[in-house]
Amino acid sequence: MSLRSLFGRTATAPVDDAILTVRVDGNTVATIRAGDVPCEVQPHVQIDSGATIAFEDSAGAVHRHDLSVGSGWLHLSVRVHPNFGCQADAVVTARSDHPPGTPLGDGDTGIRFQPFFLAEAPAAPDLSGCGLFARGLHFGGQVTPGDILLSCECDVCGKAFIARSFHAGFADVAYFYSASGRYTLTVDAALEGAPAPLSEPDPAAVSVLEARLPPAPDGTRFAYHNPFRCPHCNAPYIDFAAQPTQRPGEYYALYFPDTPPIRFDAASAHFASE
Ligand SMILES: [Zn+2]
Repeated sequence: MSLRSLFGRTATAPVDDAILTVRVDGNTVATIRAGDVPCEVQPHVQIDSGATIAFEDSAGAVHRHDLSVGSGWLHLSVRVHPNFGCQADAVVTARSDHPPGTPLGDGDTGIRFQPFFLAEAPAAPDLSGCGLFARGLHFGGQVTPGDILLSCECDVCGKAFIARSFHAGFADVAYFYSASGRYTLTVDAALEGAPAPLSEPDPAAVSVLEARLPPAPDGTRFAYHNPFRCPHCNAPYIDFAAQPTQRPGEYYALYFPDTPPIRFDAASAHFASE
């Protein structure tokens, strides 16, 4: 008799021998064992609004994501790679079927979960404060549609939060986060001093532009090296002060769904100050 059967299995305990158990609103929808790897599972689940998805590894670590989506069908794709890295994404639709690769339709929501390593991974890099590419939330050479939500996981408090992103290069803008980490501001990439994506800006010119920028609605200042912060504990999530070399290449900007980016209109600001 195993210890587990002796003591009974709690509702949240991993399934026997599972290296990953996936639950939606507390119900197990997928179980992956070491012998399954590499693999992909694609459970489809009907959900009420505000579903919670939990990924639990064999050590009991839980990556929990609360989705602010409406009711419908959740079509999950969970991949475990040979290095025991786990990637997952999902589409929420009104339909019970969603063949893989089907483009998102009106009313559909795509969600990408922050990848993570399972307990069996021989080496898991420390990605604290790293950018979206390092975290596997965006991929170089692939353009992510803007209607995909990113479910990020704070390095400090461990709670997940939903963010949206946009490709600053394609939008022809440079972006700044407020010191509070709550607001995102964009400026025309051609504006003098604008730190255009994938360029090494002149620090002095950036400072001049920063001084021209209006404060965020909460009174904090926008600056090129401000971090994007966890909305739960305020810790830096993308920490450009600690990872300055990542800044020029971080050409996807983040914002919170209820706080769309603010556009800095240099022309009207100029005339307003005349
Ligand atoms: Zn946090």
